[in-house]
Order: sequence, then structure tokens, then C-alpha cells
Amino acid sequence: MSVTTAIQLVTRGEAATAGTGTCSPDLVRDPWAFDALPMPSYGPGASVHDQAPPATPRQGELPEDYRTASPEELDRRILAAKDTLGESVVILGHFYQRDEVVRYADFVGDSYQLARAATERSAARSIIFCGVHFMAETADILSTPEQSVILPNLAAGCSMADMADIDSVTECWEQLTALFGTGRDADGRRPVIPVTYMNSSAALKAFCGENGGIVCTSSNAAAVLQWAFERGRRVLFFPDQHLGRNTAKAMGVPLEQMPLWNPRRPWGGTDEQTLRDARVILWHGFCSVHRRFTVAQIEKARAEYPGVRVIVHPECPLPVVDAADASGSTDYIRKAIAAAAPGSTFAIGTEINMVNRLAAQYPEHTIFCLDPVICPCSTMYRIHPGYLAWVLEGLAEGRVLNRITVPDSVAVPARVALDRMLAVQP
Ligand code: SF4
Repeated sequence: MSVTTAIQLVTRGEAATAGTGTCSPDLVRDPWAFDALPMPSYGPGASVHDQAPPATPRQGELPEDYRTASPEELDRRILAAKDTLGESVVILGHFYQRDEVVRYADFVGDSYQLARAATERSAARSIIFCGVHFMAETADILSTPEQSVILPNLAAGCSMADMADIDSVTECWEQLTALFGTGRDADGRRPVIPVTYMNSSAALKAFCGENGGIVCTSSNAAAVLQWAFERGRRVLFFPDQHLGRNTAKAMGVPLEQMPLWNPRRPWGGTDEQTLRDARVILWHGFCSVHRRFTVAQIEKARAEYPGVRVIVHPECPLPVVDAADASGSTDYIRKAIAAAAPGSTFAIGTEINMVNRLAAQYPEHTIFCLDPVICPCSTMYRIHPGYLAWVLEGLAEGRVLNRITVPDSVAVPARVALDRMLAVQP
């Protein structure tokens, strides 16, 4: 059963599992109900209480015939448009997308796997990215100028990526530069190396490219941090404090050498001496999906399922990662389940659509989400088959709708930071 169907059943009180609920009753509404709100918002789901910045891209009104079409009609229209477009289009689906969208994807994966998949389909003139905004930007940076990248709903951003904007990071950088200068030490190391998580705007990737920095993913964060420590006395890590903290702690960096930089406070809410002693300065960002997981959920899973293996994503808070049996990227989680002996039990701490799909894919195991409340990623949820049908039929009529374009002035330095990451051996 898909997460969308489960949400409908739970909301109608027809769920088979007692105690299951959703984090927002608005999840039963279609995403276009939130496109027309007067202020930008992330919509229902894990990020519903996060404040979307005023400059957040907005989605205009989806034409009525896509809003009122039945699932069967949308299915017929999507398949017909795909058929017409053939090899000229490729549809990419992130692991966290709803099943009703993923079923049309030519590739399913994490953000970086999908961006790479796009570059391998050079015959495709159009890349429809069923994910969120920063992923479409990365695909545009890595694709050829002849390819256009399309995000079916422009409001599909990422609340975590929005927590670090280029102005705040530049301001932080200027303060750090005033404190440490720009000169290298006796070992040739810079005072600070900026490291951005893949889940960030193209502008921040460009910032890293221009300032001796690099991009990381949740798969290679330790190798990238090692690269940065070899080149700098400290790292400024954004936007996800949890990935930075979990990774650096596993590498032996003491917690007291990882101050938090809150851009809303003078000096980031810390002080000169703490910054001088720091090895990793962590940006005050987080993923609202992964912040929902708790140690109490892990204890409950262990009590109810003796022998359960708990695997969580490193975007979870440190106490959760410490209490789990393992932590790793979506790809790590997938591979751990694929390699397990039949009859294994897994409690997983990552987005519900992916956990639900793994449970369906591996019926020989017991697989469940640590969080009993259904709470998908708000922004992934903004993509719906209605938008997919709209952009596909637009392409079939020769119109490129919702194109995501990164200007060369940003794409070129961002590519530098991405290429540095590619050169790092895990
Ligand atoms: S799961 Fe978290 S990091 Fe990923 S797109 Fe959603 S809000 Fe952003």
C-alpha cells in the first residue's frame, strides 16, 4: 500500500494498525491546494512548521484539467506523453517520492545518483526531476547545455537547504575571515575550509568552489571532511548540523570543538575563543524529516522486536545515531537490507516513502519506520502525477515548463566544488 493510500485510510479512521496517525490532516489534500496560499509555505508534512523564506519559488496554478483528472486518466496521459517523447525525455525519481510518481521514473535513486544518471542519458533533451529544487539545480550543472531540467512543481524546495542562504553564509565567512585572516599556516593550511552538503543551493556550492571548499553527500562526508582537514585548520559545514556533527564525531573530533553557528545571533551565538579552538563550525540547519526520530522510538522498537536492527540516516540527531546499530545514506540503508539474511527485522529512521517501498520490495524481512506517525517530506510531497502529466504534455507540444536554469556565473564555480568531491576517494 502506498503512503498516499495509507494517509487516506488513517484520516478516515480505517487504518489496520492501531495507533497510527499522520502529522497533518492536510496531507489528504492535493498539493495544488497549497500553491495558491498568499505566502510561500512548505505545506503539510515534516516541514509544515518551518518558515519558508519570502523568496521561495512559487508554483502558479496547475491547469484545471490536471487538477480534476482521475488517477486513471492521469496515468493514461502520462504514459501517452512518455510514449510520444521516447528517448528525448528521462524521468528521475528520488527515493523519497510518493509511489504514484516513482512508478513513472526511468531511474530511482538519491540526489547524486540521479544527477549522474541524467548525465548518462545524453540522448534525453529533457530531464524531468521528480525531487526537490537543489537536486534539479545540480542536474542542470552536471548536464549538457542542450539538456533542459524540469521540476514539475516549483514549490518543491527543501526546508533544510533553505536554512543556509548565500547572504547569511557570506556574512559568516566575512566574520571568520576578519577573525582568522586569509593566510596559510606553516603547514600550508587555510584558516577555514567551507564544506556544503549536497542539499544546498547552487549558490552555496559556487561559494565553496570559489573559496577552496567542496561539496559532500551523506555517503562520502567522512572522506570529504578528511580532505578538508588536510587543507584547513577548521571546517565551516553547512547547512546540516547533524550530518556534520555525526560524521566529525565518528572521526574523533570532540564535541566541544564543534560549535554551532546560528546566523540569527551575533558571532553565530558563540565567541572568539570557541571559534579559534574549533575543528568544525556547524551551521544551525536540520532536516525536519530526520529530526522526528528519537531514542525513545529506538527503545520501543527494541522492546517490541528483540533482535531488530536499527539503521538511521546521518541527518538524525546525534543521540539517535548513537543509539542505533548503524547509520548511513539511503544507498547504505538499501544495501544493508538487500544483503541481510531472510527473516531479518529492520527499524529504519528515514523518510516514510522509502521505508514503505523497501518493506514492499523485501517481503521476506520485517521492515518498518521508527516513527509510527506518517509524516512524509513536505516538499517531496508537492510533486503529484498531475504536475508530471502537465510538464510531459507541455514537452510533447514543444513547450518547456518549469525549467530550472543555473547561470554560468554560478554553475562554473559550483562545478569546481562538485569536481573536487568527485576526485575524493572514499
Ligand atoms: S527529507 Fe529533509 S533534506 Fe531531504 S528534501 Fe526533505 S526536508 Fe530536504
